[in-house]
Amino acid sequence: MATIFSRIVAGEIPCHKIAENEEFFAFLDINPVALGHTLVIPKKEVDYIFDIDDPMLGRMMAFAKRVARAQEASIPCKRIGLAVMGLEVPHAHIHLIPITKESDMYFGTKKLEITQAELAEIAAKIRNEYK
Ligand code: AMP
Repeated sequence: MATIFSRIVAGEIPCHKIAENEEFFAFLDINPVALGHTLVIPKKEVDYIFDIDDPMLGRMMAFAKRVARAQEASIPCKRIGLAVMGLEVPHAHIHLIPITKESDMYFGTKKLEITQAELAEIAAKIRNEYK
């Protein structure tokens, strides 16, 4: 059965899309730990990120870098933090999180309370800076 993230790529489940190319897709995390929290995934279903071969992993990181540059340009922050866990969704993904302090990366805290309209607005801002 397709993962929830494959269903997002297929357009079966809505998302706040940031960018895509032939191999990768970026969209806002639905339960963000910080404003602009974005997920980068391969379109090909792979559960564990370190099962991705080296060339593809390199291309995934290069795609994530372009998304991070767009986040930096649109969300007030010091830098973009990067995390990989994958304990919840078995489809490899990189969390890209705009941060100003260490605790902005803490996944154990209560998540941001944010409306769909606010998510849409943030996604549009990031998209606008994606080059
Ligand atoms: P983890 O697998 O532990 O890295 O966590 C999975 C992440 O995916 C969490 O941060 C969730 O908020 C996020 N997530 C799960 N379902 C969706 C969805 N439908 N749209 C956007 N983000 C999602």
